[in-house]
Amino acid sequence: MAHGMGALVAAEMVERAITFQLLELDLSYQHLKTCPAQLPELGSILVTLNLSNNRLTGLPDDLSNLCCVEELFLQYNCLMKLPESIGCMTRLYELDVKNNRLVALPASIGNLTCLAILNTTNNVLTSVPPSLGRVIKLQELCLHSNRLKDLPENVCKLKDLESLYLGENRLECLPFKIGHFRQMTEMDVSGCELRQLPNSICDCVSLKKLWVCSNRLMGLPAQMGRLVNLKELHVRRNQIRAFPASLARLHVYTFTAYNNPLLDEYNKLGLQRLTKEPKDDLPPLLELSARAVYNHGIEHNTGCIPQELEALLSSVRICSSCGGPFFFHFRSNVFFHTVGVFHRVPLLQQLCSPLGNKKCVPLESKR
Ligand SMILES: [Zn+2]
Repeated sequence: MAHGMGALVAAEMVERAITFQLLELDLSYQHLKTCPAQLPELGSILVTLNLSNNRLTGLPDDLSNLCCVEELFLQYNCLMKLPESIGCMTRLYELDVKNNRLVALPASIGNLTCLAILNTTNNVLTSVPPSLGRVIKLQELCLHSNRLKDLPENVCKLKDLESLYLGENRLECLPFKIGHFRQMTEMDVSGCELRQLPNSICDCVSLKKLWVCSNRLMGLPAQMGRLVNLKELHVRRNQIRAFPASLARLHVYTFTAYNNPLLDEYNKLGLQRLTKEPKDDLPPLLELSARAVYNHGIEHNTGCIPQELEALLSSVRICSSCGGPFFFHFRSNVFFHTVGVFHRVPLLQQLCSPLGNKKCVPLESKR
């Protein structure tokens, strides 16, 4: 098909598709500024609709006739919004709207319960609707290069999600329950404004590739070593001085860590600052209480527990070895270890209380 024949040709093609009840309609590269008027009349036969690479600024308000479309390609247009009626396309499997000017997604997107692939890369989204959490078959979610500041916690209900691309946004934090993505194999959050990753990321046990470059991370969660399937880890351009000791347990093939203020073996003062030995063998009562509250998942922030304890609970850290919580009573040191093929990096080990806890063994002696 020759390109750029314009609106007339497109109108003819739509007519032809209606007459011959075609399953597929390709209107890409037609320099269309508006959709052919008859488009909504295509009815319930069409399965694939390709309107990509045009100059569309909008779609018809009523798409309810196109209820059998499974693949909708709208990428490389000038769309500023999608009509709410897109929620009627309940058989949609793939929706590609990358490279448009979308400011928001319609809440009705939550009705697309067959959708497996959603690509919104390179738009100007400032948020995603919480209803996205209802798109339960979603496997691939691309939100790369938008203006997102956060993601609704509801998104963590997408249990089948395998790939999540969030890079080049303005995210300052990730959803607390990100660990619910047990099927996720790839995640990209590079180029955001993250200061830390939620501890629950260590529950994403299928993760094979993780990109967190160009953020403001000061460290990684202590239990990263639980990501036993991780083969690629990219943490370039952050503020990391030492990695968690549990990384020593991983067998990553590709590890990029440059442009971080990593400690080196000659930085005696820096190493000393991260070395700590508790005064007493047994943790004080306050520490033990805080650990108990944390371990039992007791609801705090309700004013029911002493203020001193309440304040402490927000500063929980996780033991490098046993994964248990600790607050101010801990033992820590830095050792150097090869991660990936070449990188000998500083690993920070923080142990809750090795004494009397058989599960809590220093990592160096494990190897
Ligand atoms: Zn421990």
